Amino acid sequence: MIHDPGLSATNPDSPLIQIDHLTKVYELGEVEVHALRGVSVRVSKGEFVAIMGASGSGKSTFMNILGCLDKPTKGTYILEGIDVGKLSRDELAAIRNKKIGFVFQGFNLLSRTSAIENVELPMFYSTVSNKLRKSKAIEALEKVGLGDRLHHYPNQLSGGQQQRVAIARSLVNDPSIILADEPTGNLDSRTSVEVMGIFQELNNHGITIILVTHEPDVAQFAKRHVVFRDGKIRSDKVNTNPKIASEVIKDLPMIDDEEDEAA
Ligand code: ADP
Ligand code: MG
Repeated sequence: MIHDPGLSATNPDSPLIQIDHLTKVYELGEVEVHALRGVSVRVSKGEFVAIMGASGSGKSTFMNILGCLDKPTKGTYILEGIDVGKLSRDELAAIRNKKIGFVFQGFNLLSRTSAIENVELPMFYSTVSNKLRKSKAIEALEKVGLGDRLHHYPNQLSGGQQQRVAIARSLVNDPSIILADEPTGNLDSRTSVEVMGIFQELNNHGITIILVTHEPDVAQFAKRHVVFRDGKIRSDKVNTNPKIASEVIKDLPMIDDEEDEAA
């Protein structure tokens, strides 16, 4: 089946992301792994997309290319009008740092480093002053509800709090897109809903979110579902009635270790 981008759920006038006939072949000695086999898709500003599909279907490969961490073997990727395939390594890194925030399943925080210092890290590549760097980090941590955990180390924070630090870190350079690969994979169900609530709030403020998940419960919070199979897009549908995390959370039982004793 051919995926027709003209039928996808986006506004064709202003694609933030425009991907055509993308393929990715990994060369492993004699063996070629065809991880992506012709993916075409558009994503407009302000979308909230859940990428789904079985293990090995090409989701992470696709996200790595979207995030300018890797280049496609063939096909084109236009990001905000820039043909990413034509950029040098340094230019790719610059685009990545400016336009894209990353959130991972395992949080990827530096363990001997406080919350605020973790969030400051992406700004060390720019010319931001020490003072501004600090105030932007505090602002980002406040946005994710961690204004009272600035100096905690990752091992002093719950899983949900660590993921919120990672989301704050993804925000500090004011990206236009946040890419999240299984961001709730290590979290219990209540904490997952809390994290999805943060993504929804950011999305309501105009940030485009693209998130990989294999959990249908998590995908319910996204506005669009793109399903991969064998390196291709198998289906691409609008979620006409996304769940609202701040509503869902009210019906879920409290879990003790997420909030501290004080409550
Ligand atoms: P998913 O994230 O959907 O589980 P991936 O994109 O990680 O899928 O993998 C797609 C296919 O590409 C799999 O067959 C996987 O084994 C292969 N693959 C992924 N990364 C590499 C790599 N760096 N080198 C070789 N093969 C890879
Ligand atoms: Mg993966």
